Amino acid sequence: MSLRFYDTSARQVRDFTPLREGRASLYLCGATVQAPPHIGHIRSGVNFDILRRWLEYRGYRVVLCRNVTDIDDKIINVAADEGVEWWEVAERNQRAFTSAYDILGCLPPTVEPRATGHVPEMIELMRRLIDRGHAYPADDGSGDVYFDVRSYSGYGALSNQRIEQMRGACDTDDDRGKRDPRDFALWKGARPGEPSWETPWGRGRPGWHLECSAMSTKYLGGSFDVHGGGLDLVFPHHENEVAQSKAAGDGFAQYWMHNGLLHMSGEKMSKSLGNSLLIPYMIRKVRPVELRYFLAQAHYRSVIDYSDEALYEAAAAYQRIEGFLTRASEVAGTIERPSEVPDAFAEALDDDLGVSPALAVVHNAVREGNTAIAEGAKERISELGGRVRAMMDVLGLDPLSETWGSGGDSGLRDVVDALVAVALEQRQAARQRKDYAAADAIRDQLLTAGVAVEDTPRGPRWELRRG
Ligand SMILES: [Zn+2]
Repeated sequence: MSLRFYDTSARQVRDFTPLREGRASLYLCGATVQAPPHIGHIRSGVNFDILRRWLEYRGYRVVLCRNVTDIDDKIINVAADEGVEWWEVAERNQRAFTSAYDILGCLPPTVEPRATGHVPEMIELMRRLIDRGHAYPADDGSGDVYFDVRSYSGYGALSNQRIEQMRGACDTDDDRGKRDPRDFALWKGARPGEPSWETPWGRGRPGWHLECSAMSTKYLGGSFDVHGGGLDLVFPHHENEVAQSKAAGDGFAQYWMHNGLLHMSGEKMSKSLGNSLLIPYMIRKVRPVELRYFLAQAHYRSVIDYSDEALYEAAAAYQRIEGFLTRASEVAGTIERPSEVPDAFAEALDDDLGVSPALAVVHNAVREGNTAIAEGAKERISELGGRVRAMMDVLGLDPLSETWGSGGDSGLRDVVDALVAVALEQRQAARQRKDYAAADAIRDQLLTAGVAVEDTPRGPRWELRRG
């Protein structure tokens, strides 16, 4: 079977046929950097990181463009509240996003353009739209430039809505100078004390939608393969992007992929709830790799209902895989990662990126591997261990990789190993003199420090426990 994805625009699963053979161009709507990210924001980063990795596994050369919206009403408002410059707010939060993507093991995009660096491209796109009769500068001299939604017959097709049923865009003060309240702002005329850039139609700043059309076209061309983002962006953001680009004569995205949202107790996360889900807070509950596993395991189009229990369950599932690989390498030595994944795993990912069925294949291999360990079947252990590593690697989750394994913090791991060894020797000595209370006290103290000791036929082994 071929690689296929659910295309929001076609409302069905379609075979993936790229515009250029062997290449895949992806545009992903990135952060509006008015606040640091919570896990709801980072979910799309993780989902599309897995898409990118899977396309690369399938032999495509991937170009991933993920933008940063660094100018926006919310950024300006935060800056005004804090009495700092808008760009201080944007810089600070962009760093927080970059750090969160890194912490969760998302590969950096090929290019990460910022809106304010692309004003000339936006002016050019507005000029094309005005020349073709799809946009107009407001005649009240405000400096606003609007897209004329009635001039473009495809408006509403992506989000499956009829124009008559849509409400006004409400994106500028009093809809100044609009011909139709549904016309949306390509460009917002300058207001006193706010940042603005010069255009042929007056000073102002970019509208959100225009940025993405201008930047995707600059880096990926007028037509590209996949446009991604969260489901909450379909309307108005993506509807407006596709209207701008197609009305200007570009082919734009061939496939639209949207990830589901993250809810908390059945509600979309509010800002106050979201604070407890900021990345630095989350990685005190579980390790970053366990958080990535949590965000990755559900199908990308499904809703994730957040709860601490669900998070810890995911961490425990990851630990089962990690525990097997750790024991496998203790018994069978270095576990080599083969370059190919099992067919059942590949078929699951080919079918609209089915990470959940793919992980079921991983867990089956782990169960078989644990049986092989119990039987002491070394070759089988190596083979299954390698298979598990290869599958987890494609998901960016290989526990023995440099990113997540001892390679990442080997210095610290060695130090802890030595300290735990000292404690375990004392525990062994206490047992030999039949002072079981002292032996148990040592084990309990280690557990309090987050080190869980397990007695195995090959002697005690330990692992970090959190949560
Ligand atoms: Zn966008």
